[in-house]
Parts: sequence; structure tokens; C-alpha cells
Amino acid sequence: MDFSEFKSLFCNSLQQNGISLLDDNALETFHLFVEHLMAVNAVTNLTAVRNVPDVITKHLVDSLFVSEHLPQDARVLDLGCGPGFPSIPLAVARPDLQIVALDSTAKKIAFVQETCSKLNISNLTAISGRAEDRAISAKIGEFDAVVSRAVARMNVLSELCLPYVRIGGSLIAMKAAKAEEELAEAERGIQTLGGGTPTLHKRELALTDNSKEPRCLIAIPKARKTPPAYPRAYAAILKKPL
Ligand code: SAH
Repeated sequence: MDFSEFKSLFCNSLQQNGISLLDDNALETFHLFVEHLMAVNAVTNLTAVRNVPDVITKHLVDSLFVSEHLPQDARVLDLGCGPGFPSIPLAVARPDLQIVALDSTAKKIAFVQETCSKLNISNLTAISGRAEDRAISAKIGEFDAVVSRAVARMNVLSELCLPYVRIGGSLIAMKAAKAEEELAEAERGIQTLGGGTPTLHKRELALTDNSKEPRCLIAIPKARKTPPAYPRAYAAILKKPL
């Protein structure tokens, strides 16, 4: 798809979804990103979303929903970034942010690193490792915000993410339809981990064929320090979520 067609589809979708428009520089970077993603995805499986209009809405626009919840100049961790969602769209649209993208699959991190150098994205560092690994926690520290999309159910996700949030910062979990149910199941664990009262932000993601899909952001402020016992080893988290 050429740049002008891409630009028109993307700008329409941003507008339809109530997201601020981007300058031409950012739009060109997004265009190159989608071309690169599609080319690599044809040979290595990075995403099941395989056509450009769906990549625009389900990956780019959906990732940008979280932007309005991130303060100016925030230090942000994208936990379980996969091929860079939401981290790459956020880094391009918000040059003020300093982003760390973490994933346990080295192949996906290699793709994110390669993309950043190809597109001159300098406010994103990609690291390969597991969130619950103590060496990783010690290395990357705490963040103003932790964002995470499609990584685990809320009760598991809270234990992976909340330890990385500084007191006064927040975890923003990107969810689809079952957010309320997942949150109810996680509420006690969130308290244990030092989380405050969660807020649910419901949205609808408008697709290019004019259909809509439910989306939800769960924002959890970090109120107190996480007890040092957390996060536990992954098997223990899964076996007995908090
Ligand atoms: N956020 C991306 C990818 C979702 S798939 C998107 O929305 O498209 C979930 C990703 O989380 C996978 O790439 C997997 O490798 C990663 N992941 C799962 N558990 C993890 C953990 N404990 N630590 C780091 N990454 C993890």
C-alpha cells in the first residue's frame, strides 16, 4: 500500500476513534513500520493480523488508546511487548516518553530492536527476558507506568506488572470484553501487591469496515510498596494466583 493510501486510512481511523492526529513525519514512520512488519511477518510469524487495514486499527490505533493515560515524559515499561504493541506506536506518536519493551521471546525482541534502528526510533529500548526474573527486575527498576496488552489474565498480570510501578505511578492493562470479570478475580491480589483502587475505562475500537469491537483499559495506581516476596516464579503464579 502506498503512503497516500496508508495516510488516508490511518488518519480516518484515528479520527473515528477520537485519537489526536499525527504529523507527516510520524505518519511516514508508521508507514515504514507497517511495511517492515508485513515483510518480516511473511517469513516469520509475528502476528496473526495480516492485512494493512486491520494492522492500522487492531495494532496501531488500539495501541494509541493508552497514550492519553501516560503523563508527559513518563518512563514506561511495555511488559510482554511481542512485536512491539503498544510500545512501537507509543514511541513514534510520543517522542517525550522513554520506553522499555520487555518480552520473553528473543525473536520478537530482535524484531523490535531491528525496527527501532531501521526507523530511527531512539526512545525505545527492547530487552529480552521474563518479567518475574529477579535479575531483570534489578536491571530495569521501576516505572511511572507499566502497560501490557494480551499477556495474561488480570490476576497473573498484576503480579508480573505491579512490582515494576513506582509508588504514585500506574499499571494500565489493555483488555477486551471480559475486563470486569478479570478485575473482580484479581482485586484481592492487587491489594496484596500494593495496588490502589482500579478504574475501568471502556472504549469501542472502530474498524475500517465500520464494525466495532469492545476494548477496556484497567488503570491501577500504585499505592504502596510491593512486598519483596513478589513476583514469585511463573509456575507458582499460575498454580496459585493471588
Ligand atoms: N503485547 C503484544 C504481544 C502479546 S502476546 C500484542 O499485544 O500484540 C504475549 C507476549 O507476552 C508474548 O510475546 C510472550 O512472549 C510475552 N510474555 C508472556 N509472559 C511473559 C513474561 N512472564 N515475561 C515477559 N514476557 C512475557
